Amino acid sequence: MRGARTGRGKSIGSHRREHETKSKAMSNESVEQRVNRLHAPGLVDLHFDLPFDLYEKRSRPGQLTAHYLPEFEAGNIGLIGAAIYIDDRYLPEMGLRVGLGQITQLYREVANAPQFAICKTYEEIRRARAAGKIALVITMEGVEPLGEDPNLLRVFSELGVRVIGLTHARRNAAGSGGVFKPSGSSRDGLTEFGREIVRECERLGIIVDLAHINPSGFAEIVDLTEKPLIVSHTNARKFYDMERNISDDQIKAIGQRGGVVGVNAILVSPTQEGSTIDHYIDHIEHVIGLIGIDGVGIGLDFCEYLFQQLPRKEAEEVEAKLTKAHFIPDLTNHSQTRNLTRKLIERGFTDEQIEKILYRNWMRIFEQLL
Ligand SMILES: [Zn+2]
Repeated sequence: MRGARTGRGKSIGSHRREHETKSKAMSNESVEQRVNRLHAPGLVDLHFDLPFDLYEKRSRPGQLTAHYLPEFEAGNIGLIGAAIYIDDRYLPEMGLRVGLGQITQLYREVANAPQFAICKTYEEIRRARAAGKIALVITMEGVEPLGEDPNLLRVFSELGVRVIGLTHARRNAAGSGGVFKPSGSSRDGLTEFGREIVRECERLGIIVDLAHINPSGFAEIVDLTEKPLIVSHTNARKFYDMERNISDDQIKAIGQRGGVVGVNAILVSPTQEGSTIDHYIDHIEHVIGLIGIDGVGIGLDFCEYLFQQLPRKEAEEVEAKLTKAHFIPDLTNHSQTRNLTRKLIERGFTDEQIEKILYRNWMRIFEQLL
């Protein structure tokens, strides 16, 4: 085979020589230098409950710079999907008020933090990144703030919401969430309100996020839409079988539409021993095996600190209602994302693959859809 011609007129041998020259040039680079180089353009994490926490601490403003900025900077985070999420205790009456309150608090904090920019378009993301700012894209996890009024979608769109998942784990006016068990959620798909929201999202240029929706709702959204679909944060049912995670067929459906699956760091395994960065990467490899390297990103969903903030009784209630999340000990906040990249290197991923996983694939989606 050596010397055989390839389609573009170069011999395989010359490709190999180029590769050898390239690796020789880089052979002086330490793993740490390689991690730094790969992180420099800025990672994209499409799921983080940031507005939720800023709102809960609104009487103590300045959290964005005091608490989050150092972690984001340590991990070279370039873009955060900042998720609006309404806690059960506010529902049903307070959904809209708390949703608006979370967005308000995000804007208030960013007004005093020149290191951040709330971005509504791909161009704004690009400009923020060129200026060295961390881009924040507002996402919504469950449409409870809309109540049952589809017209409010336009208001939230004006405020900057660019990614919407219809439900969290519970049932709402749009549909039902997948349960944290292998089966048992409603067999129903979306409500008429839910279908209207999905159609309106595509019309307004809001990305539809399939995280959390139950299997029938998932299938219905695939049928209703035409643009690339995403799952901002999830894991593979192959390794942790629950409706809240996604099956191989669901992963393939995302791939067929040119979408991206963001791999979640908190539902990697049903056991604590299995919750490791290595196993997180198994999920990445599984998605790649099914739909290719262009279909995978990160949606880390770091929330251990939120649990730690809760009184013990409340934390137990959340665990009873949902599930016990097993956090990965050396991947619990954004400052630890270098551990992930180091492990991807150790597992033999190429620079190009790592770049796609860490930010390029999500950026492609923003370029296409925002
Ligand atoms: Zn979630």
